[in-house]
Amino acid sequence: MEIIVLKNTPYKEKDAIIDALTSEGARSFLVRGLLSPKSSNIVLSNPLVIADVEIAEGKYKHPVIKKSQVIHSPYHLDDNLRFYSVTQLIGEITLNLLQEEERGSIYEDLKRAIIALKDQPSITSSILLIYFMRVIKQAGYSFEAQHCVNCMSKKDIVTFSFSDGGFICKNCLTEGITSRLSKDAMLSIRKAIIASDYKEIVELSDGALKELLNELKTFVFDYLGVKITSIDLFS
Ligand SMILES: [Zn+2]
Repeated sequence: MEIIVLKNTPYKEKDAIIDALTSEGARSFLVRGLLSPKSSNIVLSNPLVIADVEIAEGKYKHPVIKKSQVIHSPYHLDDNLRFYSVTQLIGEITLNLLQEEERGSIYEDLKRAIIALKDQPSITSSILLIYFMRVIKQAGYSFEAQHCVNCMSKKDIVTFSFSDGGFICKNCLTEGITSRLSKDAMLSIRKAIIASDYKEIVELSDGALKELLNELKTFVFDYLGVKITSIDLFS
């Protein structure tokens, strides 16, 4: 069975529970001895590794992974902390923002994002933002990226608001709209929404990425009731 690792949680002494995505949805598995450095399944410790696993149903609560073989891994020899934060955040949003029936349909998209992370480590933030917007779309929220969401005007756009559904022009800005994004962040989010592929690069400064992740953190908490903790790794 092919799985994408999303998260691992230590369980009893050296075992771990792995939350993974399959083409049919999310599943949890027990991996015996995963936390031992000698584990033959050690590669499953990292989020976003795609592996072919052999499973046994047994006496445990979760099916047990007996054997694993890596199909794709997004990692390189010299990854920095930011890269690990991105893989952790992608794992967390995939696991937590989608309902069971929405998860299977993000599988192929996630696989493309993982291959892009492997092939183009220099555009990690761009891949993260495009994928994040796709997950939110899959969860049922889309955004107007071409004009003001209220009056359709393309002139005098002053901000972008996730909770209002898109860009807002000067005339439609009311006191209730609290989102104030910088020009850089607005350009980046527009590109991320309309991107059809991970190869379309979203130019993203570190400041713009932080601004957008903070807005997204508030949005998913308010609308989906989910607290995304790995966003704090970026502050
Ligand atoms: Zn307007």
